[in-house]
Amino acid sequence: MADGLADDTFDVTNVGKHLNAKEFNDALDLPDTVVIDMRNHYESEVGHFEGALRPEVDTFREELEKSVKMVADKKDKKILLYCTGGIRCEKASAWFKHHGFEDVNQLHGGIIQYAREIKEQGLPAKFIGKNFVFDERLGERITDDIISECHQCGAKCDTHVNCKNDDCHLLFIQCDACAEKMQGCCTPRCQEISNLPIDEQRKLRKGQRKTDTLSVYRSRLRPDLRQILKAGSGSSK
Ligand SMILES: [Zn+2]
Ligand SMILES: [Zn+2]
Repeated sequence: MADGLADDTFDVTNVGKHLNAKEFNDALDLPDTVVIDMRNHYESEVGHFEGALRPEVDTFREELEKSVKMVADKKDKKILLYCTGGIRCEKASAWFKHHGFEDVNQLHGGIIQYAREIKEQGLPAKFIGKNFVFDERLGERITDDIISECHQCGAKCDTHVNCKNDDCHLLFIQCDACAEKMQGCCTPRCQEISNLPIDEQRKLRKGQRKTDTLSVYRSRLRPDLRQILKAGSGSSK
């Protein structure tokens, strides 16, 4: 299988029960329900269902592996899964059933559909914050709560940006003040590079391809930008 879940006995068609927004809300109210966010850390960081387990992972494959381990002792409990648009939960719910979970449920149409249904039906929002989506907006606000912080200064913020240095492009949370100060970049090094003339940036890119320190940030789960800024202040002008 492309995602590395190689197991002949894994039946991807044996999926969980689909719940609409009302049913999902009701299930959340039951005692002993376990709700699991099937998205990556940068998605759940800015918005998630109340009480959801949110594995710190970078990829869906890691998410699958980690989540079943996290709740290995809860195979008899009601499991509620959700993701952005419901697609990842098709596989995830089958994965949970494959691992012996009995009562596996998933949010039909994901958070996108949930947001629509609670609005139309006047249901309470049990999802707080923003639904991260991969378009120019990088998120649709569900409630006014801001549950995350700027990765550079720690101020309350849930605005995702991509680092302005094209060779970095790190996705991170940056407040307006930091965006101005850092010119949309994640680190002083990226700021320096993005201020170079385009042909110099290209030269740098060619020469540094293999040893580029920026790739360190990319391969690591959630680089600590505050530490990097603290360490870098003074040394870079
Ligand atoms: Zn900030
Ligand atoms: Zn950067």
